[in-house]
Amino acid sequence: MSKCIFCKIAEKSIDAFVIYENDRFLAFLDVNPKAKGHTLIIPKRHFENILDLYDDELKLLGKSIKDVVQILKEKLLSNGFTIGINHGKVAGQAVNHLHIHVIPRCVGDGGGSIHSIVNGGSSENVRDVYNIIKNKD
Ligand code: 5GP
Ligand code: ZN
Repeated sequence: MSKCIFCKIAEKSIDAFVIYENDRFLAFLDVNPKAKGHTLIIPKRHFENILDLYDDELKLLGKSIKDVVQILKEKLLSNGFTIGINHGKVAGQAVNHLHIHVIPRCVGDGGGSIHSIVNGGSSENVRDVYNIIKNKD
């Protein structure tokens, strides 16, 4: 079976514009950017999503996100970002290798906030949802 595309980028067997790297994570420019500097951060090892990632790697993932934001802020003079994960097919995950989108934002870019991604709303009472999550009657 052929390796996933992001594993190939991580092992450098196919090219990508890598802007940041540490022991466990790699950041490269999205080939189909939604904005100038649209970057993807991936673990070098194949994990499908955040639930698969080992707990001890989360600290470095957080640091990687911060470092990438800092680089884009400095080099591209971006002051705002949308940072997110399409987790699962229903959420739009097309590549089944965990990746965090870091999208620089600017005035007039035509985009919205994270709130604009989903518009169905919730008919459930917020307290009822809380009770389900917390196993309360
Ligand atoms: P998803 O919908 O899975 O969150 O987004 C996958 C992203 O990966 C897309 O934005 C797409 O443009 C990007 N992408 C897919 N294949 C490649 C590739 O081979 N190289 C790069 N640099 N980006 C890719
Ligand atoms: Zn992979």
